[in-house]
Amino acid sequence: MAIKECNKNCCGCGACADICPKGAISLKEDDETFRYPVIDKEKCINCSLCEKTCPLNFSNFQSYASVKSYVGTYKSKDVIYDSSSGGAFTAIYQTYYRGGYVVYGAQYEDHFKVVHGRAETEDECKKFRKSKYIQSDTVGCFNKIEDDLKAGKKVLFSGVSCQCAALISYLDTKKVSRDNLVTVSILCHGVPSQALFDKYIKEEEEKEKAHVCEFRFKNKEADRNKVNSRTAWVEFSNGHKYIRTREKDPFLRGYYSRLFYRPSCAVCHFTCKERVSDFTIADAWGIEKVKPDYRPIEGVSLLLFNTEKARDAFETIKTVMDLEEVSSEWALTSQRLFRAPTDMHRNRDKFFELLKRTSFRKAVFECTKPPLKQRLWRMIPESIRGKLRSVVKG
Ligand SMILES: Cc1cc2nc3c(=O)[nH]c(=O)nc-3n(C[C@H](O)[C@H](O)[C@H](O)COP(=O)(O)OP(=O)(O)OC[C@H]3O[C@@H](n4cnc5c(N)ncnc54)[C@H](O)[C@@H]3O)c2cc1C
Ligand code: SF4
Ligand code: SF4
Ligand code: SF4
Repeated sequence: MAIKECNKNCCGCGACADICPKGAISLKEDDETFRYPVIDKEKCINCSLCEKTCPLNFSNFQSYASVKSYVGTYKSKDVIYDSSSGGAFTAIYQTYYRGGYVVYGAQYEDHFKVVHGRAETEDECKKFRKSKYIQSDTVGCFNKIEDDLKAGKKVLFSGVSCQCAALISYLDTKKVSRDNLVTVSILCHGVPSQALFDKYIKEEEEKEKAHVCEFRFKNKEADRNKVNSRTAWVEFSNGHKYIRTREKDPFLRGYYSRLFYRPSCAVCHFTCKERVSDFTIADAWGIEKVKPDYRPIEGVSLLLFNTEKARDAFETIKTVMDLEEVSSEWALTSQRLFRAPTDMHRNRDKFFELLKRTSFRKAVFECTKPPLKQRLWRMIPESIRGKLRSVVKG
């Protein structure tokens, strides 16, 4: 039996399209701009390979009992500033690249299209650094990794959990040995579509009458006194440059408000303590509660070694990272994502309705307006608000 079309739990990984022996599956955008598989019934031979490879059926989780957990930062500040958290990913790719691995990860291509690419040199691996908060296109990537492994190459793959699960299922379905594969999953709470980001970029360009030539999420230059500043760096061909906070930038505002994630992220199969990959990397949110003196301001990585394979790399990773062990009990409860998927914003449906007749910017600001009570409260001068607070406290 083939996969079901129009299944809103589908995470859009495209593994079904890669595995189909008849090339019968293509991914098409729905009304909300998310891509879903569509089957050409004329070509389909009902071989079930797509169903078998689908990560929605994934059950090959690693037990959390043997996870070793660390927090830490890369030893060079340049790397930390060029990374979204503490630079754990760079430490991992350097370790494996130098051990003869080819590396896969998410990169920008052709005016901010996020795709999964391949790197053969250490310098090329730098394009995977930093989070791109858009769903990356992995179609074609599973086929390439299969070819690499069959050709005797060693592969390091990094991606969000559903993409790691899709790769593992794909290789197992095709009976390709995973001995030479190492996987790194990026803890993830949700992804917007590429088309939404394109719309945002287009509007910024129309407003500025210039091309966007540089865009960086989680830019750390804006406020060096805060850990992981949630800002965007937007640079135009006319020389203008903005560093915008999550309140002011429409894309960040919508993203951090959970306004336009893919529906599958609300029922994510991978938000549990059990891990899919050899490594898991994330932000070490809440580390100040367990280690009050430990507060590097540029961002701290949470790095989980989930398998024996990953633990074998510990000594090498430690040569380039300052790491401190933390209890896995704390690590695997430090974020809600280890037990439940993200809740969507209450105005998500309204946003997609509004988007049909208004701009991206207007739709975002309209749907993320604070409630009336809060807006009225903010209109009162701070000096009076302070007095009112103390009256209420009694
Ligand atoms: C969509 C998304 C949501 C995230 N949500 C959370 C969260 O809720 N909590 C949390 O702690 N951390 C989250 N992260 C992870 C965090 O932002 C850092 O990316 C992670 O901690 C690695 O940082 P680093 O400093 O080690 O290396 P970096 O150099 O920042 O690592 C970049 C790595 O992320 C991968 N990557 C980048 N963009 C994408 C993408 N669009 N799809 C797949 N892989 C991508 C690259 O392939 C590379 O492996 C999220 C990341 C993404 C991409
Ligand atoms: S059942 Fe087989 S032939 Fe049909 S769409 Fe799925 S993979 Fe392709
Ligand atoms: S989750 Fe991936 S494999 Fe499953 S139907 Fe969607 S695109 Fe295909
Ligand atoms: S939240 Fe889950 S389903 Fe959504 S992109 Fe992340 S791993 Fe995939």
